[in-house]
Amino acid sequence: MKTRVADLDFELSITYSVIERRVQEIATEINVQYAGKTPLLVGILNGSFIFMADLVKELTIACETAFVKLASYHGGTTSTRTVRTDLDLKSDVRGRHVILVEDIIDTGHTMRYLVNKLKDNSPASIAICTLLLKPDALEANIPEIKYTGFEIPNEFVVGYGLDYQELGRNLKGIFKRVD
Ligand code: 5GP
Ligand code: MG
Repeated sequence: MKTRVADLDFELSITYSVIERRVQEIATEINVQYAGKTPLLVGILNGSFIFMADLVKELTIACETAFVKLASYHGGTTSTRTVRTDLDLKSDVRGRHVILVEDIIDTGHTMRYLVNKLKDNSPASIAICTLLLKPDALEANIPEIKYTGFEIPNEFVVGYGLDYQELGRNLKGIFKRVD
């Protein structure tokens, strides 16, 4: 299936039903590994809002949710490697088991920055749960990545919360750029 977002063409790469199944698998792992720990799930806005919603619906353990807003793409299709904080975390993370929920890890600079910042506030543990990971684009060392939905090649994707110029977040599935 093909679609156009602003001035770029995309084709379906990961269907919604495949995503749904993978989200259930990840939730099952979290249900087991965080039983009795009441984790604080922190979604990174804007991109993670759909993934976060689908994930928490599959969690059966006690958990809390919060959001932070970070940006590193600033409207283009490549990472700028500078991270801007638009909305800071208000929850107290001291002694908490924090799970950062991200849409996609590309260069990894956004997550490296956020993890380092969180560590200053003494959480009990930090894990990262990302729907997508581009292993070939990773420039930072991020041992905190514990849950990955899908590893994808180094190509630009939209849909399921991810945007191009703020468009395409509503697409049901992950779409990759085509020429
Ligand atoms: P990083 O700091 O890892 O390079 O960038 C992470 C952020 O860049 C992600 O949270 C996401 O907002 C954005 N990003 C990275 N790759 C893509 C992509 O292929 N498509 C979209 N729409 N955003 C991306
Ligand atoms: Mg993001």
